[in-house]
Amino acid sequence: MNETIVDIAKYSLFDRELISAYKSYIYLLIVGNIKEALDHLILVVLAYSLICIVTYQMIFRRFINRFHLISDVRLANFRRVLIVTAHPDDECMFFGPTILSLTQRSEPCTVYLLCLSNGNFEQKGNIRKQELYDATKVLSLKDEHITLMNSTLLVDDPNLNWKTELVAKQIQKEVESLDIEALITFDRDGVSCHPNHCAIYYAAASLRLAGYLPKSCKILTLDSVNILRKYMSVFDLVISLLLSTNWCILSWKNVNIVRRAMRQHKSQMLWFRKLYIIFSRYMVINTLREVNVSDIELDMQINDT
Ligand SMILES: [Zn+2]
Repeated sequence: MNETIVDIAKYSLFDRELISAYKSYIYLLIVGNIKEALDHLILVVLAYSLICIVTYQMIFRRFINRFHLISDVRLANFRRVLIVTAHPDDECMFFGPTILSLTQRSEPCTVYLLCLSNGNFEQKGNIRKQELYDATKVLSLKDEHITLMNSTLLVDDPNLNWKTELVAKQIQKEVESLDIEALITFDRDGVSCHPNHCAIYYAAASLRLAGYLPKSCKILTLDSVNILRKYMSVFDLVISLLLSTNWCILSWKNVNIVRRAMRQHKSQMLWFRKLYIIFSRYMVINTLREVNVSDIELDMQINDT
């Protein structure tokens, strides 16, 4: 009887050791696989980063004295362009590469800016107004080409939805009076999903759908990208080149001009904005999409579902 108990104890000890050894084996296998996967991931990231840097250098080594951008032919042909934004600082934070590319183009191009609010959310409307003019000067925009609205119906507030008809009316007025050939604004996600940004897209889209914009006036929207791409700075280059056809890409010298323009918005220079200036791809790259009626109808359907 005693011998049987000793045998059972021996076997269960053996089983426990076996299970423990098996667990260690599985653990080492998982750790080994994770390590291998991480090694591969690091290699892929390094290779991709290198491709981006080489591509960026090649673009500007070849073109730096002639162009400060690569752009689609259609964008290069526009002579009167209207940029529509919601708040002072949108022009630098998001549209800097587009504005600078157009104002520095060798062919003449007049760039107008319609900013639909004075950014009075923190009761700093007057300060932000001056900051807008300081920033646009750095981007080579003329004061007389800037319209800054201060309407009680278009208040800077992320909790307010601007009325589409009201925004549309302002845009239509500017397009018609300035004989605009290209209207450039946010897409339906508004880069940061700010409702005031998105409202501009829906207003421009409704004008196009209703046929209230001249056919000769194209609408181009700034692509919103996911949060990873948003903070990849120049390392978003290859993805942007592959996924888009309308690009505005700045040389490093011009990136610094956009950054300097952004720093004119002193009242907005909180720590996270300083990080934004360093890491955002919108300081270096803008990709634009020409919007036609079928795109708008599709966007509206997506929005309804
Ligand atoms: Zn904004």
